[in-house]
Amino acid sequence: MDVVLAISGLMLTVVALTWMTLMRGEDRGPVPSIFGRMGTSNWKAARMSKFSDWQDRMLRAVWRHGENLPEAVLAWMSELYDEFGEMSESEFCESWTARTFSMARSAFELISRSVEEEAGKSVAGEELCYIDYLRDPELGPVGVVRIKSTEVSTPDWGEILGAMAEGVQEFIMSHYCVVWPVCGDHDRGLHVDYFHDAAVWKCKGGAAGGHVVRAIDAPPAGPEGIEVPSR
Ligand SMILES: [Zn+2]
Repeated sequence: MDVVLAISGLMLTVVALTWMTLMRGEDRGPVPSIFGRMGTSNWKAARMSKFSDWQDRMLRAVWRHGENLPEAVLAWMSELYDEFGEMSESEFCESWTARTFSMARSAFELISRSVEEEAGKSVAGEELCYIDYLRDPELGPVGVVRIKSTEVSTPDWGEILGAMAEGVQEFIMSHYCVVWPVCGDHDRGLHVDYFHDAAVWKCKGGAAGGHVVRAIDAPPAGPEGIEVPSR
C-alpha cells in the first residue's frame, strides 16, 4: 500500500513538474533529461506558440499586424523575446521606436554625406529633422519620423532610406532651389524608387522609359555623378 502511494505520489510530481515547465513563460534552458525527447519538443512547441502569441500582440500594438514584414524585423523580434521575454506593449513600442529612429538617423546621415559630396550642399541643420514619436498605440503607429513632407514609421531599412532620400531631396529643392540628384545621361532629376526591396535613384529619361541609376546607399560616382551603366 505504501509503495503504491509512493509511486502515485512520484507520478503526480512528475506530471506537475512537466506541466509547470511547459507553462512557465520565462523558461529558456533545456528541460531536465528525465522528460526525454518528447518533453523537449513539447517545450519547443510551447515556446513557439507563446512567442507567436506575443509577436501578434506586439505587431498589433505598432499597427503592423498582418503585414508581410521583412525577415530582419522578425529576427529582431525573436532576439528581443529571447533576451527580455514577454515585454509589455508599451516597452515594445519604445524598442520599436528606438529602432526606427536609429535607422532613420543612419539613413539621414548617409544621404546628407551624399548630397554634400555631390552637390556641395549642407543639410546638417537641426531644423531639417522633424522627428515625432507617437508612443501611445491608441493614437497611431509608433516611431514616426518626419522629414519635410515625408513621414515614415516603417521598420524596413529600404523604405526608411527611400523616405529620408525624398525628404533630403525636398529640402535641397526648397532651401537651395537645386535639383538633386541629377542623371548624368539625361540631365534630369532622379526620383526614389524600389528595386527588389532596395531603395534606388531612378531616372525617367531614355528610350526604355526609365532606368535605375544607382542604389541610394551606394557610394556616389563623383561630383558630376553617376557613371552607372543604364538598364
Ligand atoms: Zn537618365
